[in-house]
Amino acid sequence: MTRNPRRAYDEQGREIPPMTLGSMREQGIRSIDAWCRAIGCGHASTLNVGGLPDPLPVPAVSLRLRCSRCGSRAIRTRPN
Ligand SMILES: [Zn+2]
Repeated sequence: MTRNPRRAYDEQGREIPPMTLGSMREQGIRSIDAWCRAIGCGHASTLNVGGLPDPLPVPAVSLRLRCSRCGSRAIRTRPN
């Protein structure tokens, strides 16, 4: 079985689905933290994701982002 390094796995090796914006909102979370992984940058910001659809996984939001400081697309996201 090949593992996707962008996914999380439990002790049995089953893939844990990433949290979606919908399940995040059910927990009362309205924004996500995003930070730049470019070496020497590390720019971080908090995003309001109210305009994005519920089924979108939180990690997928990073694919839509670009660092406003250095222009890198190496962005990580997590629920705020
Ligand atoms: Zn950056």
